[in-house]
Amino acid sequence: MVLRVGVNGFGTIGKRVAYAIQLQDDMDLVGVVKRTPDYAALQARRAGIPIYTPSEREAEAFEQRGIHVRGTIEDLLDSIDVIVDATPGGTGAKYKPLYEKHGVKQIFQGGEKPDVADVSFSTLCNYEEALGKRSVRVVSCNTTGLLRLICTLDKAFGVSAARAVIIRRAADPKEIKRGPINAIVLNPPKLPSHHGEDVRTVLPKLDIVTAAVVVPTTLMHVHNVTLRLSSPVTRRDVIAALEEAPRIMVVSSEETGIKSTAELMEAARELRKRSDIPELVVFEESVTARGNEVILFQAVHQESIVIPENIDALRALGGLAQTAKETIALTDESLGVGQPLW
Ligand code: NAD
Repeated sequence: MVLRVGVNGFGTIGKRVAYAIQLQDDMDLVGVVKRTPDYAALQARRAGIPIYTPSEREAEAFEQRGIHVRGTIEDLLDSIDVIVDATPGGTGAKYKPLYEKHGVKQIFQGGEKPDVADVSFSTLCNYEEALGKRSVRVVSCNTTGLLRLICTLDKAFGVSAARAVIIRRAADPKEIKRGPINAIVLNPPKLPSHHGEDVRTVLPKLDIVTAAVVVPTTLMHVHNVTLRLSSPVTRRDVIAALEEAPRIMVVSSEETGIKSTAELMEAARELRKRSDIPELVVFEESVTARGNEVILFQAVHQESIVIPENIDALRALGGLAQTAKETIALTDESLGVGQPLW
């Protein structure tokens, strides 16, 4: 079976999901919904992606620029099985009644409230829970990074508690109107930050507390994480478990000279499309084991980390893969996840 998919919103996440769908043998990208006839619309046209608009009102501006519009979002919804909503946070919930009216299954992003979907989702933690559901919310980039780490070490050793300080990038590289430009902003001043609560949408019983600050960078987020495990471990055991796990890249600063997000992205610029790093990057020398506790630094490429999970979520909703292992193999092979960075 080939799953017919549409993408609403063609920004940072939407365009990456759309191009990733084009690489899957068991999915067909029927079209994307785009509001403005900008460079990204011209690139979609070049990639042979049919373009739809939110309403008939926007279509004329596209046609004036020579971009053919296939129809409105309602036409797209009539010809697909699943819609991936990648509109700005909160907008997806407003679209939900329209998606329901047309009887399509839905994938939402982490900017939506958890109640927008039947299940909040992260492949390494709860793929099977999403099987056959009507709607799924792929949790945000920071939450995906935390969950990949926590669920990997939980399977290996058992995780009883997590504490994390999240150093957030202020904006995506393309965002010209956001800041800060010269400050470290408490996000928010009152602890905890919302990230721990978001992790609990997938792991409801986990004892987790997070704090966050926003810093003037666009490249990646960095987390300092402390996990309490159910028994003592060595750092060697932890590194081995992380190296074996899919979608986690352990980077040795000693071997590569990399000790910053700037150098990671510079390496990715050589070998990765758009310099995307969808893997969670764990800095090897930071991994410290003290009795039951593990402490480490990890980095999250916010623009791309959730793309594999969106593809897996499509397989779960469409019943295209029955296990996490099955979908991870297909997704990671097609997107080059896990390929060397040097
Ligand atoms: P974005 O602003 O880059 O893209 C959103 C796109 O939707 C834009 O192209 C915009 O023109 C379009 N849009 C706006 N209103 C629309 C409407 N009413 N109908 C159709 N299209 C509309 O945003 P993004 O960063 O891709 O974020 C999308 C979602 O993904 C949010 O929920 C966000 O929280 C989540 N997310 C973002 C990141 C990130 O770092 N960028 C990471 C993970 C998850």
